[in-house]
Parts: sequence; C-alpha cells; structure tokens
Amino acid sequence: MGHRLKDDGKKWPGGKIYYDYKLPDTSTAAGGQQQLDLDRLKLVDTIEECMERWMRFVNADGITHIQFIWSKDAPVYKVIDLTKDNEGSGSGQNGYDGTSPFYIQWKRQADDHIKSIPHELGHIMGLLHENDRVEGMLDDNPFTGKNPLMCPTLSYIPEMLQKKRDRYQAVGDYDIWSIMHYPEVTGYKWNCGDDQLQAYMDANPDPLFKAVQPAFNYARWKKKMGRPCPLNYPTRQEVEAGLWTPSLGDVTTLRLLYPGPVAQNAQ
Ligand SMILES: [Zn+2]
Repeated sequence: MGHRLKDDGKKWPGGKIYYDYKLPDTSTAAGGQQQLDLDRLKLVDTIEECMERWMRFVNADGITHIQFIWSKDAPVYKVIDLTKDNEGSGSGQNGYDGTSPFYIQWKRQADDHIKSIPHELGHIMGLLHENDRVEGMLDDNPFTGKNPLMCPTLSYIPEMLQKKRDRYQAVGDYDIWSIMHYPEVTGYKWNCGDDQLQAYMDANPDPLFKAVQPAFNYARWKKKMGRPCPLNYPTRQEVEAGLWTPSLGDVTTLRLLYPGPVAQNAQ
C-alpha cells in the first residue's frame, strides 16, 4: 500500500504543509536568462495545480487530511526554490522540515523537472519510495507468483535502507502503482520477468490510475516510456494537463499518516 514516515517522525502538524517560493528576479536579467526565468515562474502554476490535485484525492473522503498552505506564517515551512541552475530535482529533507528546499531543475529540453513534481510533493508530505521498503537483496526476495517486487542488487543499498527503517514504515502490501515507486534505477531489479509483471499489472490495476487512463496496458506503457520502468510515474504532458493520479495505496497511506482533525482530537 505504501511507505510512510512513522508516527513519531517528522509529520506536518495537523497535516498543514506550509511553503513559500524562492523566485527568480526577472527585472534585472536580460535576453536568454530572462526567458529562462520567465519559464521558471510558470512552474508555480504547475506546482499549485499538483498540490490541489493531491488535496483533492486525499481529502476526497470529506476529511481534511492535508492542506498545502502558501505562507511563511508558521515556525517551519518548505522553501520551493525555482532559482537553481543545477541539474536534477529534489525535495530536500522529507516531511516537516524547513532546512532544505524543494528545488527543481530547469533545462530547456528536459522534462524531468515537471514530471517529478507530484512525486516530490509526496516526499514533502512524508512518503518514501515504495521499492525502498524491500528488505534484503534480489536473491532474498524470490518471486512467489503474487506481488512482484523491485529489489536491491547492490550490496550497500540494504544497509542504507536499514537506517531509513528507523524513521519509515511500510504500510500494507507492496504497491507497484504508487507514484512513489521509483522508476527503474541502477541498483534495483524486478524479481520477476516482464511477462509475469505484465500479468500482474493486468490482473491488479490501480482503481484511481485506471479511472484516468482506462486504456493503460503494459505494451503501451513500455512503448510510451521506452523501457519497462516508471509504472505510475507520469509524463510531463500528463502533469501539465492534470492527468496524473496517485495510487489508491498512496491516498490511503497519506490518510493514515494524517488522520485529520477529528481523529487527532480523539487521540
Ligand atoms: Zn523520490
């Protein structure tokens, strides 16, 4: 189902996620730099839309589990830094943290910065990669015919993940449809073949994902992404068009992490 911060971890109090932007100054730069900065400013709309979309899904049961609040009026707030020239995107320290920013790369031809936004917001709320919940190496996790797993193949990874288990906990079954399921990455491998993965995906579609992309199937997915990796990782176009969805497991995991005002008062 998911992989989340423990209850005594760095959860956002009351599910209120405060943030503020660090924006490029477009008044002084000229020429190409100015255009670059204007393009970066447009990311604000996309990020806001992604936050809205997360809230719509997670709070759809009528309980306000999470709120993204654009305000510095809180002891801790996340800085979203749109001024960095470095490559890559990162959410900084996960969860309730004001010490490291969420930064987004901007290379004119690269799509990574936009397609990663929903995933990075997942980290900010306190979700961790689904594949990082697997204990041991590939050999320790033979395919059982049930739930396929993406497993570590490099020996230092289990040790690294062991430390994260102090702060994170797995919830329910492994969820291949999680938006936090990291695309195929060096050091990880599926414990089953492509045909077995396909059979599992066909038999176990995610209801939220399927509602948005009913025609989704493994063959099309493989063609779209060029390699058998990103599962529920959206494309840039899907993020810009508001067509991405978290998995039902992501939504359920966040509801457990942030039970909402009523449940919190009852504790
Ligand atoms: Zn990530």
